Amino acid sequence: MATIFSRIIAGEIPSYKVAEDDNFFAFLDINPLIKGHTLVVPKKEVDYLFDIDDALLEKMMVFSKRTAKAIEKVVKCQRVGLTVIGLEVPHAHIHLIPIITGMQDMNFANPKLKLTKEEFEEIALAINKAWR
Ligand code: 5GP
Repeated sequence: MATIFSRIIAGEIPSYKVAEDDNFFAFLDINPLIKGHTLVVPKKEVDYLFDIDDALLEKMMVFSKRTAKAIEKVVKCQRVGLTVIGLEVPHAHIHLIPIITGMQDMNFANPKLKLTKEEFEEIALAINKAWR
């Protein structure tokens, strides 16, 4: 069965898309720690990030870099942090999280933000524009 992220990439489940190329899809995390919290996902379904073949993993880091640079242009932050957990959804993904106050911004035990549809749309569009 396709993972929830494959269904998002296929457009079967809606998402706030930030960027896309032949290999990767980036969209806003639905339960963001910080405004602009983005997930980068390979279109190829692989559960564990470190099972991704070397060539694709290199490209995933470059795609994440470009996406992080776009996030920086939209969200006023010290820098964008990158983390990988992957315990909830068995489809490899990189979290890109704007760090505003400090390392505590990347603590997944923090309460998640509740954003409106309009807020999600506005951020996704702005990051997408900065990405292009
Ligand atoms: P992890 O697998 O890295 O522990 O966490 C998965 C992440 O995916 C979580 O931060 C969660 O909020 C996000 N997530 C799970 N399901 C969906 C979804 O359907 N849409 C979006 N945009 N994010 C999701």
